[in-house]
Amino acid sequence: MIVGLLHRLSEKLPRVVHRISVMMKPQVVFVLGGPGAGKGTQCARIVENYSYTHLSAGDLLREERSRKGSEFGQLIDSYIKEGKIVPVEITINLLKKAMEETMKVDEKKFRFLIDGFPRNQDNLQGWNTVMDGKADVKFVLFFDCGNEVCIDRCLERGKSSGRTDDNRESLEKRIQTYLQSTRPIIEQYEKQGKVRTIDASRSVDEVFADVKNILDKEG
Ligand code: ADP
Ligand code: AMP
Repeated sequence: MIVGLLHRLSEKLPRVVHRISVMMKPQVVFVLGGPGAGKGTQCARIVENYSYTHLSAGDLLREERSRKGSEFGQLIDSYIKEGKIVPVEITINLLKKAMEETMKVDEKKFRFLIDGFPRNQDNLQGWNTVMDGKADVKFVLFFDCGNEVCIDRCLERGKSSGRTDDNRESLEKRIQTYLQSTRPIIEQYEKQGKVRTIDASRSVDEVFADVKNILDKEG
């Protein structure tokens, strides 16, 4: 009898495992830090070494800006040049769609690094409203880096990035937006014990060694 039971169980197991993975809620790590702190660089490293999908709010907005027929192209363009935070309805829909499409293609891809989000209170409220119960935020990876280092890196990146906001004028505004709007969000998560802070002013390898330590423990 026991042998029969085990046999039937082993037949059903693959279907049960399949169903559990279909039901997996997206597991999210928010990635925050100043402009040029190295968020994108470290996310690329993480994707190479762990089963995460990288979604950059900035990249998704730039894609939407250049999508033919987008009703938001001009609005996004002016916000990005001004270093201002694009209205959350646009950003959250792009993120939600990207997460859904990723999981539709491969249901095992339910771990996401959401880079450059939430950047302000509006972003956070939008996330809580739209994604409540639909995704788990595991923690926030905070790449902590002084403003001068951030500015220098972006100016260097600006020599080849073609980005409209990697210039001193936009950068001053982006740093202000970061200090006034994003830091308070990081502090809120800090109070919940959800922030993993990394000194991002060191070399890419040194920073990644710390990232690895965190992800190996709780990723
Ligand atoms: P973010 O996504 O935070 O805006 P990026 O990852 O695009 O930042 O990095 C900004 C620039 O700084 C890029 O040109 C990148 O090559 C460089 N960079 C990233 N991390 C480091 C680091 N640890 N040390 C030196 N330069 C870095
Ligand atoms: P980044 O590529 O992360 O440096 O972002 C570039 C610009 O895109 C920012 O300065 C904002 O104008 C816009 N942006 C990026 N992330 C967000 C976000 N979460 N909400 C609104 N606007 C954003």
